Amino acid sequence: MDSFEPAPPLIGLRGRQRIAGFTLARPTSLTDALDLRKARRSTWMAGGVDLIDSLKHGSPMERVIPLAGLAELRAIERTDDGALRVGALTTYQHLADSELVRTMAPDLATLIGGVANIRIRSKATVGGSVMSGNGVYDLMPALLALGATLVLVGPEGETRLPAANLEAGEPRLLRAVEIPSQQVTRLTFDRTLRPVACVYLGVDLRDGLATSARLSVSCAHARPGVAAVALDGSDAETLAHRLASGLPPALDDGIASAAYRNRMIRILTRRLLETSLGTTLNTTPPAGSRP
Ligand SMILES: Cc1cc2nc3c(=O)[nH]c(=O)nc-3n(C[C@H](O)[C@H](O)[C@H](O)COP(=O)(O)OP(=O)(O)OC[C@H]3O[C@@H](n4cnc5c(N)ncnc54)[C@H](O)[C@@H]3O)c2cc1C
Repeated sequence: MDSFEPAPPLIGLRGRQRIAGFTLARPTSLTDALDLRKARRSTWMAGGVDLIDSLKHGSPMERVIPLAGLAELRAIERTDDGALRVGALTTYQHLADSELVRTMAPDLATLIGGVANIRIRSKATVGGSVMSGNGVYDLMPALLALGATLVLVGPEGETRLPAANLEAGEPRLLRAVEIPSQQVTRLTFDRTLRPVACVYLGVDLRDGLATSARLSVSCAHARPGVAAVALDGSDAETLAHRLASGLPPALDDGIASAAYRNRMIRILTRRLLETSLGTTLNTTPPAGSRP
């Protein structure tokens, strides 16, 4: 007689797919959340939008650790050095509606308030979006363009990491993200070509002058990358070319070829640069030029 593995106990059906049994372990503190995560096949859950989907598709988790009870992950505040600090459990909708976010980073609030739909925005969190590493989502490329910092917590304590340095499979818990205010970095974006490519441009300001720019893109790479240039007086076409050349190779798939994506990224970036540098900001004059 053939032997076979017994089917795991059925605890839920959604979309006609089986979710295998797991234990729910509710942490009472950040330390508790880190300790619980040491178990084999354990995972944190924030809004659960991605996680439930992955469980439905057979991801073998034995312990799910909901973070929802950890109030310290929800705060939105201004830091002592004038940045905007957003807790990892903040939902997209809360981010878009927050008075402080709308004051300090209004372009980010506008971006996030316009993605997906109200049902998704009410569940999706900053932490889940960033830590998923999904190249289609909007938040991480916006944070990369803004030059944001991630506040991570692990067994060794708290670490601040530039968003650009986040690696796939990061094991620590994201506590918060710190975002420069719009007086320091201005965000513009263009999502009109989704799902081919969406571009996010951050322009750094010093004494009212635009000094440098960062570009990130969604829908064009497996994980969002970022490229930066100094604004040295070169025209928007040249800067767009330099920025786009600093990104990883674009995806070549059934949605669009890599060549088409690369071309569209350059065009959309040039337009954002023209808007940012031409109408709202002054650029740093080329080295050696008269003021
Ligand atoms: C129909 C639909 C449309 C969508 N459209 C858009 C869109 O237009 N733009 C967009 O940006 N996104 C979009 N999304 C994606 C959505 O933003 C993500 O699914 C959501 O942000 C995931 O967050 P979550 O809180 O649900 O994460 P979860 O599913 O809870 O977690 C995801 C992963 O992150 C880990 N994690 C969660 N929190 C932390 C933390 N604090 N520290 C460390 N790891 C953590 C979990 O362990 C898990 O591995 C869409 C999703 C759907 C279903």
